[in-house]
Amino acid sequence: MSFAALPAAWRPHVERNLPRYTSYPTAVSFEPAEGETEARRWLAATRADQTISAYVHVPFCRRLCWYCGCHTSVFHEYDRVRAFYQTLRLEVDLWADAMGPHAGAAHLHFGGGSPNALSPDDFVGLARHMAERFRLRPDAEVAAELDPGMLSDAFIDATGEAGVTRVSLGVQTFDPVVQRKVNRIQPFEQVEGATARLRRAGVRAINFDLMYGLPGQTPENVAASTAAAVTLRPDRVAVFGYAHVPWMKKHQVMIREADLADVAGRWEQAEAADQTLVAAGYVRIGLDHYALPGDSLSVAAAEGVLRRNFQGYTDDPAPVLVPIGPSSIGRFAEGFLQNAITTDVWGREVEAGRLPVARRLAVTAEDELRAAVIERLMCDLAVDVGAVCQAHGFDPSTLDGSIAAAAALQADGLCVVEAGRIRIPAAASRVMRVVAACFDTCLPVTAARHARAV
Ligand code: SF4
Repeated sequence: MSFAALPAAWRPHVERNLPRYTSYPTAVSFEPAEGETEARRWLAATRADQTISAYVHVPFCRRLCWYCGCHTSVFHEYDRVRAFYQTLRLEVDLWADAMGPHAGAAHLHFGGGSPNALSPDDFVGLARHMAERFRLRPDAEVAAELDPGMLSDAFIDATGEAGVTRVSLGVQTFDPVVQRKVNRIQPFEQVEGATARLRRAGVRAINFDLMYGLPGQTPENVAASTAAAVTLRPDRVAVFGYAHVPWMKKHQVMIREADLADVAGRWEQAEAADQTLVAAGYVRIGLDHYALPGDSLSVAAAEGVLRRNFQGYTDDPAPVLVPIGPSSIGRFAEGFLQNAITTDVWGREVEAGRLPVARRLAVTAEDELRAAVIERLMCDLAVDVGAVCQAHGFDPSTLDGSIAAAAALQADGLCVVEAGRIRIPAAASRVMRVVAACFDTCLPVTAARHARAV
């Protein structure tokens, strides 16, 4: 639906600041951790019949893109990255030694920054060390986010040696004018070549990340970039909106505010990407993902078992996520743990033999219940609230107050509420967070710290 055709009642919702609900409660609710004792207790409580996953954050890049919102820095001498790699190996040992019984790792995810800031040998060394220490299962997914502009042939060979099954390439835009405005020069041929070489190296699945809301972007050049991207048949595409927060990310001052679209323009850009992807045969997944019909994300969505975690949408069912590297967030049955943000503090803790945990949040049974409802809304655009309450051992009326808040949105056409069941129409999927927020009791405190809904 075009912005001009949106019901007038939607406008204030579109401009709200809301979480992306990659977790509930969200990271802004985390509290300072007092030492590592609690983390070690949570870690020892893993279950022998459950798989685990691990996320590794590599906080280095070979270039700085001016839109970047990640924890990263550009390195000039590899010695710094090499020292980081050695510390990472120690950290893997710390977590693995402290962990209770488990059924092996079902999913390893390398993100950043750019994991290809590591040398090919160090990347393979890290992947093998993790596979050994976390007992990687033969059917596991090993995923890596890579910067295609800095991807060497040697690193592509290393992905094969490391057993990488899925690669996410940061494409963002193919428009040369927009690329110059964000300091990320990356011709189509470079992404095309990287995609072909990764497939030849044995990487089974390729994801692309695209963006809207960047300086100089228009619905026309977003549609053109998306159309070019789908000619390479990525298995999944994620479409993210640029969040302009130069008071938090200093390098974003390089982006001229006059070059940024307003909310109507951002909506039209997101719509242009959506229409291009759907016309090319991709299945809409949740808020901002698209996948080919045979991809495991489409299959999980069709079967109602799609999950939402810190990497976005996933089919990974593991209940435990081990955080590796500075700023990484982990998930355990008892709650969330986040590692120290800065590489220096993180490194000092690891080298002293301590888990580098800086923030934590223990979750209550009601948090778990609300998280489950929000996750189903974000994944399925529908939820039977009473059934989720009962599955979590609560009275079916426990969330009636939140259901009433959702019912108040019904008149605006954002959802349909009937006998405790909530459904978000496809036309309102871009503002699904407005409905999910009805179940968020932290929002009155955290709202100002989230980005715009569109
Ligand atoms: S390559 Fe990725 S992580 Fe690194 S600066 Fe660019 S956007 Fe940020």
